Amino acid sequence: MTMIADNLQSVRARIVSACAAAGRDPGLVKLLAVSKTFGPQAVRAAHAGGQAEFGENYLQEAVNKMAALTDVPLVWHCIGPIQANKTRLVAEHFDWAHTLDRLKIAQRLSDQRPGHLAPLQVCLQVNIDGGATKAGVPPGEALALAREVAGLPRLVLRGLMTIPEPAPDFPSALVVHQRTRALFEQLQADGLRLDTLSMGMTADLEAAIHAGSTMVRVGTAIFGGRLRAP
Ligand SMILES: *Cc1c(COP(=O)(O)O)cnc(C)c1O
Repeated sequence: MTMIADNLQSVRARIVSACAAAGRDPGLVKLLAVSKTFGPQAVRAAHAGGQAEFGENYLQEAVNKMAALTDVPLVWHCIGPIQANKTRLVAEHFDWAHTLDRLKIAQRLSDQRPGHLAPLQVCLQVNIDGGATKAGVPPGEALALAREVAGLPRLVLRGLMTIPEPAPDFPSALVVHQRTRALFEQLQADGLRLDTLSMGMTADLEAAIHAGSTMVRVGTAIFGGRLRAP
């Protein structure tokens, strides 16, 4: 078995124990392998290890990688920032986008989504811990944006995504993830049909799962350390 396949097994085991500790069904927590900065061979090794869904941050890098992997059936998630002049790359190449935080970007993605592809699955990125310059919609504006995005014809709003500041320990990570969970439930209570809470990375996936994450985005624990900063 390759090191990547081996690492995948360890991450799946972490997910299973976190679900057991939280009394949750592990079948309801999806693993997204974050392959940014790693080449097509690393993605192939992960695919051989049973992984089908991949997250990418840098759009041009991602599109080049996809072109080298057309022989494997993979699901691609955009988890990096989306500038207005890059929406076409996302609309034409990805299955999911997790980082919507402005209506203008959402409208462009909907307009540019090719007719032969299924609607783009999207999450709103929420700035749950409030850094002033941080990406993400402020929690107080999430409901209004979610209603607008849910009305766009070529997008399917699936849920919320967060990238909180690194937390020093499990309890502090948990508190922040629980805030996102509460917001998620508030939006559901308002009638939005959401099923995806994209939160938790290598360092905090246990806390995220405890708080209700349905999709953890894991890079380092699968592919190893990155030379380029995220
Ligand atoms: C890089 C990245 C990840 C993966 O982070 P690791 O700590 O390597 O698991 C997850 N989500 C986003 C948005 C990222 O940019």
